[in-house]
Amino acid sequence: MSRYKIPFNKPSFAGNENRYITDAIARGHISGDGHYSKSCHKLLEETLGVAKALLTTNCTHALEMSAFLVDIRPGDEVIVPSFAFVTTVNAYVVRGAKPVFVDVRPDTLNLDEKLVEAAITPRTKAIVALHYAGVACEMDQILEIGRCRGIPVIEDNAHGLYGKYRGRWLGSMGCLATQSFHETKNFTCGEGGALLINDPALIERAEIIREKGTNRSRFLRGLVHKYTWVDMGSSYLPSDMLAAFLLAQLEHREEIQGRRKAIWQRYERELAGWARAQGLTLPGVPAECEQAWHMFYVLCRDTAQREKLIDHLTERGILAVFHYLPLHMSDMGRKLGGQPGQCPVTENISARLLRLPFFNSLTDEEQGEVIGALQAFQG
Ligand SMILES: *Cc1c(COP(=O)(O)O)cnc(C)c1O
Repeated sequence: MSRYKIPFNKPSFAGNENRYITDAIARGHISGDGHYSKSCHKLLEETLGVAKALLTTNCTHALEMSAFLVDIRPGDEVIVPSFAFVTTVNAYVVRGAKPVFVDVRPDTLNLDEKLVEAAITPRTKAIVALHYAGVACEMDQILEIGRCRGIPVIEDNAHGLYGKYRGRWLGSMGCLATQSFHETKNFTCGEGGALLINDPALIERAEIIREKGTNRSRFLRGLVHKYTWVDMGSSYLPSDMLAAFLLAQLEHREEIQGRRKAIWQRYERELAGWARAQGLTLPGVPAECEQAWHMFYVLCRDTAQREKLIDHLTERGILAVFHYLPLHMSDMGRKLGGQPGQCPVTENISARLLRLPFFNSLTDEEQGEVIGALQAFQG
């Protein structure tokens, strides 16, 4: 038994997962791009208005596909936020890129658009915008910089499915965007992801890269009469059984997002006074962002206060966790030229951020316990 009565995350079920998986098996097509994969593609394309959606084995692989598609070569530079998931950067490093770490904004913890221009060099091949906690980056400015310099913008939208920026869906703005359906995300199939393609010129090559470097997708559509090896690539298709699980979740978008919105808003409402009194900060969501309700965090005054708060919650059986360590200061980041002090906002907030339990099936009672435990903390 875990010592935590209330975990940080728990996979939740929307209802039809077993039925759809059983049906996928009965249909006799359990490899990639069967009935359920196609249904997921269609649902994502129609909802988000993207030119093409392709399920992948995970978000990391969708990011790797994006590195192929923007043609990353050894020595190229990619602008990345320093407060990010490892594979947001590693996907480009494995193709030989040098990451250029740019600091984040203190309010949204997103790539600071004001620092992007100065980080561009003649070798810059891509800008990666991660919508942290499903709250949008300042996309108008980032897209404008990319457009003026002819540099593609890629959205790491692992947190942001169904969030919006100035009325536009997250994932629909960069030339490419990536989604994660890992167990910790709003919608899941255990391990899974998707690549969203907004530049139609990239669709054909994306299908080839995803199908081991072959033109098998065109063959299956009857566009070529045999399929063969045509380009670089790998194998990024998930089994249709996973797509069946995922479809069951995606079909319950309103219910899942509605529940998450209620959890987020209750945390904010009931913790505001306590946070002010104890000197903590709650997440900032700019007016132009409709967030995706992915995460609720508090920013403690300092690391010592965070340690005390973690201990206080642990004693009450509640697991709260911190998040990304500054990538430019990691062992690998330093090998790639990262220096302490280079991204002061990232270094500062990374040491203070604490994420609260947040999952679709968190009950009102459990959330009440978390809030009560926090309100009892003075320090
Ligand atoms: C979860 C996550 C990923 C990786 O997702 P996988 O599907 O586990 O590969 C990438 N970027 C961000 C921001 C994430 O939160």
